[in-house]
Amino acid sequence: MSRHIWAICSKADTLWVKWVHTNILKGRCLWRIQVPAEASWTIRKLFKLRDIVQTWITARVGNGESVFLWLYNWHPLGPLFTKFGEAVVQNRGISLLAKVSFIIHQGVWKWPRVRSPTIQNIIEHTPTTFLPSVDSLDSFVWNLNGSGVFTTKSAWNALRLVRPGVMWAKIVWFSHNVPRWAFIEWLAFWGRLSTKDRLRSWDLLGDTTCCFCDAQNESHEHLFFACPFSHQVWSHLLEMNNIDRGVLAFTDEIAWACNHKAGPSLAHLVFRLSLAASVYWIWRERNFRIFQHQRKDARGLSSQIEEEVRACFVSFQGVKKTVVNSRIVQKWRVPARIFALCS
Ligand SMILES: [Zn+2]
Repeated sequence: MSRHIWAICSKADTLWVKWVHTNILKGRCLWRIQVPAEASWTIRKLFKLRDIVQTWITARVGNGESVFLWLYNWHPLGPLFTKFGEAVVQNRGISLLAKVSFIIHQGVWKWPRVRSPTIQNIIEHTPTTFLPSVDSLDSFVWNLNGSGVFTTKSAWNALRLVRPGVMWAKIVWFSHNVPRWAFIEWLAFWGRLSTKDRLRSWDLLGDTTCCFCDAQNESHEHLFFACPFSHQVWSHLLEMNNIDRGVLAFTDEIAWACNHKAGPSLAHLVFRLSLAASVYWIWRERNFRIFQHQRKDARGLSSQIEEEVRACFVSFQGVKKTVVNSRIVQKWRVPARIFALCS
């Protein structure tokens, strides 16, 4: 299936791909359109998978005529619509389905002249060396493979990780988790957030310094939680969970969670929420610093995460009043009435 999505996106020269473009997409973006009511089984399956596969494909802009400006992953910031939401198209005079060619003029970017912090932000984060190759056609890079070319093996290996059987699925996907936390956590576990080291490997960014410590390179391992900043944040959450050990390397933290915190008890649920919230809010803080020049210190962020986890915690139902649970409820300063919901 991922091969089909890759073929459609990169406009492979086959009859089937042409048929899909003419009869299903009709000039619209594969990542955005609704599944057509009359779609076949194959097309339905394909649509189900597209959100995952989308993150594995990067467009290299040539003349920009086949790359959707807001919807495709072509800019160093990632898909602009995903990053900035509706704000990016409102009152900008450029439709959601515009192509990148719309902002190319004589070989350079020509963004609309509007007073918009979003557009300013995009302009500021467009490296001067990052330019379209207007003399060539657009091309597409398969991110899972060093050569940039699709292989079934790389897709299969990656998909295996998102299947429910993967060890850490229970850590991420559980009913109490907040969907947006789970999504970012899942990308982080998988090493697929757009960290600076990855952007650098695609030649999209020069500076790879971590925005928290200004000392080390930004990578998944560093952000979670080797950096002194995130180390302090995660230490606080470990302490809140009564876990008396030091911070581990990220992959070890994930393995530890799988081995010790995959169950249904209150202690396990609260730990998993703490991990998801920490990954999500550290990633958000990183983005706030880079894109909006706002910053919180590690203490402020720790308190915020604690607050967020508490807000989820108070909505739990059916919590049994045991000695262990009472201790957790007390520690998190959750009202004792949480036990009343049980009977
Ligand atoms: Zn750092």
